[in-house]
Amino acid sequence: MKTLAYGFPKLGERREFKSLLENFWKNKIDESEFVEGMNALRDWMVSNYKEHVDVIPSNELSYYDFVLDTAVMIGAIPSRFGEYEGLKTYFEMARGKQALEMTKYFNTNYHYLVPELEGTNFKLLKNYPLEEYRYFKEKGIETVPKILSPFTFLKLSKAIRKVEGQGLPFFELSKLENQQDFEAYFNAVFGVYEEVLKKLKEEGVKEILVEDPALCLELEDYEWDIVEEMYSCMSKYVDINVLTYYDSVSNYQRYISLPVKALGFDLVSNKENLENIRKFGFPKEKELIAGVINGRQVWRACLDEKIRLVEELSRYAKDVIIANSCPLFHLPVSVEFENEMEQELKERLAFAKEKLFELKVIKLAVEGDQQAKMEVERVKNILSSKFGEVQEVKERVKKLREEDFTRSVPYSERIKLQQEILKLPLLPTTTIGSFPQTEEVRKKRTEYRSGKISSAEYEEFIKRQIEHVIKVQEEIGLDVLVHGEFERTDMVEFFAEKLGGVATTKHGWVLSYGSRVYRPPIIYGDVYRPEPMTLKEITYAQSLTQKPVKGMLTGPVTILNWSYYREDIPKEEIAYQIALALLDEVRDLENAGIKIIQIDEPAFREGAPLKRRDWDDYFRWAVRAFRLCSNAKPQTQIHTHMCYSEFNEVIHYIHQMDFDVISIEASRSKGEIISAFENFKDWDRQIGIGVYDIHSPAIPDKQSIRLVLERAMKVLPVELLWVNPDCGLKTRRWEEVVPSLKNMVEVAEELRKELVSVQ
Ligand code: GLN
Ligand code: ZN
Repeated sequence: MKTLAYGFPKLGERREFKSLLENFWKNKIDESEFVEGMNALRDWMVSNYKEHVDVIPSNELSYYDFVLDTAVMIGAIPSRFGEYEGLKTYFEMARGKQALEMTKYFNTNYHYLVPELEGTNFKLLKNYPLEEYRYFKEKGIETVPKILSPFTFLKLSKAIRKVEGQGLPFFELSKLENQQDFEAYFNAVFGVYEEVLKKLKEEGVKEILVEDPALCLELEDYEWDIVEEMYSCMSKYVDINVLTYYDSVSNYQRYISLPVKALGFDLVSNKENLENIRKFGFPKEKELIAGVINGRQVWRACLDEKIRLVEELSRYAKDVIIANSCPLFHLPVSVEFENEMEQELKERLAFAKEKLFELKVIKLAVEGDQQAKMEVERVKNILSSKFGEVQEVKERVKKLREEDFTRSVPYSERIKLQQEILKLPLLPTTTIGSFPQTEEVRKKRTEYRSGKISSAEYEEFIKRQIEHVIKVQEEIGLDVLVHGEFERTDMVEFFAEKLGGVATTKHGWVLSYGSRVYRPPIIYGDVYRPEPMTLKEITYAQSLTQKPVKGMLTGPVTILNWSYYREDIPKEEIAYQIALALLDEVRDLENAGIKIIQIDEPAFREGAPLKRRDWDDYFRWAVRAFRLCSNAKPQTQIHTHMCYSEFNEVIHYIHQMDFDVISIEASRSKGEIISAFENFKDWDRQIGIGVYDIHSPAIPDKQSIRLVLERAMKVLPVELLWVNPDCGLKTRRWEEVVPSLKNMVEVAEELRKELVSVQ
């Protein structure tokens, strides 16, 4: 029996990865210093593995993103980047002006760069797996190179066909889905992979790890044919260990028939893999990689349960390799740095380092080691005591009835009541919530947190910011105002700090993309609201103006999806607990005279399971959680905000949320999103189309704003349309925000006039 771990966080104990990248980008260090620093991190990752596990992977430290590395490896460099010139081109592709598009890696919060495949001419450009293998070999460390499977790589890529448009060439992007295309691209990509494998073999590599999470997606038969062919071909060079994760494999029979040495299973995300192993058995001649330690959640594992599982599995397979369930980079490095955390919570947690230790203990205990067995008992004791339970919260959820999820008056009636109060013009203008988080704002917050200034001083400062932003919005002529969110760092962390049953960490950083890190909160107990969370700022803002100011909350599904959460109760129940806490806030805001409340749900969709067949269940409770927290008076207008473009397949769920107004991103997807509403016949809700991209510093001209609106007006009745930017403005500068919003408001005013004169 062996242990294996993979995907250890490359961030380093002191976020060294982030500093190295950012210093290199700012030219504070040169390339050799940069590489030297990265090598130190490489060594550090491997030393962590070495301390606890048997199989040590290599090719794990990408300078930006491992999918991008794979694209570079096979020479898939889009022509706009010219000849590949090492790191310069690499970072152009990652974050230059015309960078590759970024999107979420399966259903996680990690973002990868979407490879663009122009044609099918690929060549081996950078043999990263070989380079890293050699690097460690020279230090006397035998590693197992890890690669992304060509199949998953293609499933994550876009194929591009060049089309000649009117004068300007433009690109038609389409995800690879068509069988013939897919096969052609596959063969081309695979050709390069074969070369990589050949070189690895020549170097003396005996086996590799192949990450193939796409095998957990629902696949066509022809795709499984390709996968089978792929593994039989790859196995000719080296022994193959396949890793699948985030869900169960979608076709168990075909999966276990693949001609490889070892097959990996995620045994924590749901029960299906295990059920299949029990039901259909497992080939005696293959090894089974048992992903028993959760790579996505921060809890200590119940080790004796895991031991029993491993023992059971060893009866099926030639051998069991004990492993994590999915890459460990979803976790912070180590709990040991959390010196301010409550002991009772801390001892229940295991971050990446502690997970490695758990793998070792399981193996030793299975082998009969006494000390390991004592550790298992110790953990059992810790986990057997109750923690974070609040009886009232449980009762409140238990008592929920159908009417708690349904507003008392239907939308068609609500809208009239709301309009009577709000008296908004046609094409009302608004923003998504945040205004520039300037250097000054961030500095004051740090001063406040470190105790340099008092909370009274800080609150005064926030008040001045609110006064300013209200004045600016009035001058621009916006119809519905916001308070600017200056008191918030992050839309989830802000609420996490205020809610009971939720902890935040000091050092629990996780990479979300490139050098960008965030600290996910930890929902460890029953969630409740000890006191109002947003009331002070919103009501102050409202006191300064006659125009309506939107109350601004983060929705229950987003809070849940962007946090670690407990596993002893269903996710659905946690969502309802958070929703009830938010409902209390909604009621307080209403009572204080707030007429519009926006509940942001940017992560509503991303929590959806990998397999479509599981969507109904997820969206059922996600929709209900939203409905629960937004069950306001009919007169209160409920807004929500989401920022992504793939709406088509989820629009019927979105409609069930029963909000009054939704604002969405539209400019980056070039109006593609509007087609979702075209196809959804009964769309009746008001919708704020994002008329410009806030991710770019460019000030949108009136013409481009008008184009988005005119496109929307062709599809939806003008009475339903609002006018707003794509998303919050916190990353922008005032100099960009003010003229952009002015243009936006002017276009709305012009269109209103034109529409009146037509009537
Ligand atoms: N209200 C938030 C803001 O404006 C919404 C952010 C988001 O959608 N990610 O910043
Ligand atoms: Zn947004």
